[in-house]
Amino acid sequence: MDTNLRCDATRCIHNHGNYCYAGRINIDGKLADDIDDTYCSTFKEKDYQQFTSSIGIDSQKPINTHQIKCDALKCIHNDNKLCKADKIKINSGNASCDMFEE
Ligand code: SF4
Ligand code: SF4
Repeated sequence: MDTNLRCDATRCIHNHGNYCYAGRINIDGKLADDIDDTYCSTFKEKDYQQFTSSIGIDSQKPINTHQIKCDALKCIHNDNKLCKADKIKINSGNASCDMFEE
């Protein structure tokens, strides 16, 4: 798959096969100083019917890190709210960014 963004938050409507089809996403965590303080605010929980449908597909291709607006300014990968990490993973439990590093 031609993307550097993997997302394990499979309960999100935008998640298909551990890739994100939201088009673009926001990562929150202005004051974050560890991984658990960050989260994908574009996360939207699937309801029962949505679990097997493709309702969350807004883009043809899975997004990559260039399509992130990130408020976690203390992260070493953050450059003026753009993510410069080589690749990232969004975690399953709370949709936090596993690549956050202060
Ligand atoms: S949690 Fe965020 S990165 Fe993951 S699929 Fe949903 S919108 Fe995309
Ligand atoms: S690696 Fe850092 S800059 Fe990139 S999305 Fe995660 S928290 Fe934001």
